[in-house]
Amino acid sequence: MGVENVIIIGGACAGLTAAIYTSRANLKPVCIEGFQAGGQLMLTTEVENYPGFPEGIMGPDLMQLFRKQAERFGTRFVTKDVTSVNFKKTPFEIYVDKECYKTKAVIIATGASANLLGIPNEERLMGRGVSTCATCDGFFFKDQHVVVAGGGDSAMEEASFLTKHASKVTVIHRRDTLRASKIMQDRAFKNKKIEFIWNSTVTEVLGDKEVTGIKIKNLQTGKEGELKCDGFFLAIGHTPNTKIFKNQLELLDNEYLKVLNHTRTSREGIFAAGDVQDHHYKQAVTAAGSGCMAALDAEKYLETVK
Ligand code: NAP
Repeated sequence: MGVENVIIIGGACAGLTAAIYTSRANLKPVCIEGFQAGGQLMLTTEVENYPGFPEGIMGPDLMQLFRKQAERFGTRFVTKDVTSVNFKKTPFEIYVDKECYKTKAVIIATGASANLLGIPNEERLMGRGVSTCATCDGFFFKDQHVVVAGGGDSAMEEASFLTKHASKVTVIHRRDTLRASKIMQDRAFKNKKIEFIWNSTVTEVLGDKEVTGIKIKNLQTGKEGELKCDGFFLAIGHTPNTKIFKNQLELLDNEYLKVLNHTRTSREGIFAAGDVQDHHYKQAVTAAGSGCMAALDAEKYLETVK
């Protein structure tokens, strides 16, 4: 295999935007998009705040449009996960199992993944009542009672969405005020199917073959109790997908990739875009914007190397 100009790792908002820009710049990029390409928008319902879609658009449809646009300009896609990288030598090496891709520049856009609470039975009952994606699994809870953990925009979005199927949605939040934006809060408060339990945390998922309830603890009084439910949805934030870059690039304390001067990582020729380096804005449109920036930075860098 020859040496590529630029390889993009990740195929969602940031990666696909970088693919559009680098392919239009005639750099013939390869985008290793991963098995679960499309990122977090594949797990969401309607995106109402992506400019250009006044009526809103479904997350997966938006990602399909991004990909189609990148394909139109000649991006080559590899629908596999990167298993390891060696950025300590040039050309940089990117491994997909035993297959090695060599490249002069890299754009990392691996995004972030849903957090878990780390409580008993949470992982064991994943897909059997426990879920991190209301859009994917909400359908299975028709006329049932589900619990959502979290107090951010994701939790409000998931709770509101779940009321389309479930008879009752209980949001459990560890504080007495929500982190979610005002509009999302208002929507949830107005929804008669949504109830809130404040200052509380879920300490265990109950159920043998499937979820039958949860254990819950009031963080102010220390009082513990049980709540019967059929589904348990986690919406407690995300962790950046940076595991394969440890010991290769500098990470921040919270494990996000450290970037300087816009999209440059600690190693020359390696750029980062989207949620893998953004622990602040975390929006589809900002991810796309930084994908564009990384592509322009990579293009400039490639003018300086043979
Ligand atoms: P987030 O804003 O980080 O909120 C995470 C929530 O989970 C917080 O309420 C947090 O509680 C709670 N939490 C975290 N760890 C916990 C733990 N161990 N136990 C119990 N609760 C825990 O994450 P997000 O809601 O996924 O949103 C991420 C970003 O995406 C935000 O910038 C958001 O605006 C954006 N977003 C936007 C939309 C939209 O506009 N349509 C939809 C979804 C997400 P505390 O509040 O106490 O910290």
